Amino acid sequence: MGANHAATGAAAWFAVAGSGPLMLGWYPVHSSGLLIGAAVCAGAAMLPDADHHAGTISHSLPPLSRLVTRGVAHVSGGHRHGTHSLLGILVFAALGALLGAVRVPSAIGHLAVGAGVISLLLVAYAAKALRMTSDATWLRSWLLATGVAAAITVFAPEDPTWLAVCVGLGAAVHVLGDALTTGGVPLLWPWTPDPPRWWARNRVLRRVWQSNGWGGVPVLGRTGSVREWLLAVPVSLYASYGLVVAFVGMLESASRWLPARVLAELTG
Ligand SMILES: [Zn+2]
Repeated sequence: MGANHAATGAAAWFAVAGSGPLMLGWYPVHSSGLLIGAAVCAGAAMLPDADHHAGTISHSLPPLSRLVTRGVAHVSGGHRHGTHSLLGILVFAALGALLGAVRVPSAIGHLAVGAGVISLLLVAYAAKALRMTSDATWLRSWLLATGVAAAITVFAPEDPTWLAVCVGLGAAVHVLGDALTTGGVPLLWPWTPDPPRWWARNRVLRRVWQSNGWGGVPVLGRTGSVREWLLAVPVSLYASYGLVVAFVGMLESASRWLPARVLAELTG
């Protein structure tokens, strides 16, 4: 389910990039980067499904999203093929690295133009998945995506590698999420080896490595199952906790920065 993918993406970014309690701090960023990354990672966690022309996100930012979906489906071989593999995750991360490096110097510091461009789509994906926009509200989708993408262009983390980490992480948690459902994923695409006959005869084994060469650990059952929702609750709670941590961090730095500025003005 789209909303669950988006929430998982935001939660994963908070876990990896946050340094508060219950966070791993593997890729520490400033509180504003924590917030920006969560929005981008939530959208990136929808990105592998940009291979589905009738899917939720294909209508998220018309007509751009539909064009992108059609192109991605063409290149990746159709729904749940190339975008749901290790190679797909690598390609998404490489795209993040390329766009992350596109920065333009300006009077207010570097503008992360590449991050802004991809954010336009990713923010629209996340907003659609989280039902902040709908098929009927294309103008709201564009206004929201443009506004947030502009803010990301100005306030993106200084280290340009953040976009590769963020987009790669989002795509990876999407593929992991799908691998936990009954359909499975073609993780080694374009190589999708069939299991041997003895393997396919076993009822349990053939659900892990399927006869079409796809695989996974289908502990969540079908997409949209009760089990999926049971996992979605703690994930969403954790993502909400991450949002609070990011906002408190931003308030704290503003409260330090503002008096320092006033003091500097007064003392000349
Ligand atoms: Zn998917």
